[in-house]
Amino acid sequence: MKLWRSIRGTLDAFWITLRTLFRRPATIAWPEKRRAPAERFRARIVLTRDPQGKERCVACYLCSAACPVSCISMQSAEAPDGRRYAAWFRINFARCIFCGLCAEACPTRAIQMTPDYEMCRRDPLSLLYEKEDLLIDGPGKDPHYDFYRHAGIGVAAPRGTLPGERPPEDPGSLLP
Ligand code: SF4
Ligand code: SF4
Repeated sequence: MKLWRSIRGTLDAFWITLRTLFRRPATIAWPEKRRAPAERFRARIVLTRDPQGKERCVACYLCSAACPVSCISMQSAEAPDGRRYAAWFRINFARCIFCGLCAEACPTRAIQMTPDYEMCRRDPLSLLYEKEDLLIDGPGKDPHYDFYRHAGIGVAAPRGTLPGERPPEDPGSLLP
C-alpha cells in the first residue's frame, strides 16, 4: 500500500510537470515588458487636489485612525480663511500593506490608491514619503468632487449676522 502511494505521488508530480510544460509561461521579462494591472489594483498612494487645484486633505486624521499598521502621520493646521490642511503628512511605505482602508475612510477623496507598484527600494528610509512626494497636481479619481462645496468653510462672523441669514433660534423661547 505504501509503495503504491509513493509510485502514485511520483507519477502525479510527473503528470503536473508534463501538463504545464507546453503552457505559456506566467512570468514576464520585467522591466522590458510590463503587465498592466487591473483598474482597481491598489498600490502607491497619492494625495490629490480639488477641481480648483487646492489641496483636498483637511487633516482630519481619519486615514491615520483607519490604518491597521499605523503608517500615516500628519500635523493639522488652519488657513486664515478657515480651511484646514496638513502642515506635514507622512506615509511610511515600508509598513504599508496597501489595504486601501485609508482611501475608504477619507471624507474628501484626498488620499487615493494608484496602480503604480514599482516602488521597491533597498533602503527602507527612502520609503518614507513626505507630503511633497505624495501630493499630485490633479484630482485623480472622482475629478469633480469638492468637499468644501458640500461642507462649506467656517466663517468668523457670529451666526445669523451674515446677509440673508436668520438669527439662530433661542431654545428658551420655545419652552411652554
Ligand atoms: S493602504 Fe492600508 S496600510 Fe497603507 S496607509 Fe492605507 S490604511 Fe495604512
Ligand atoms: S487624507 Fe483624507 S482622511 Fe486623511 S487626513 Fe486628509 S482628509 Fe482626512
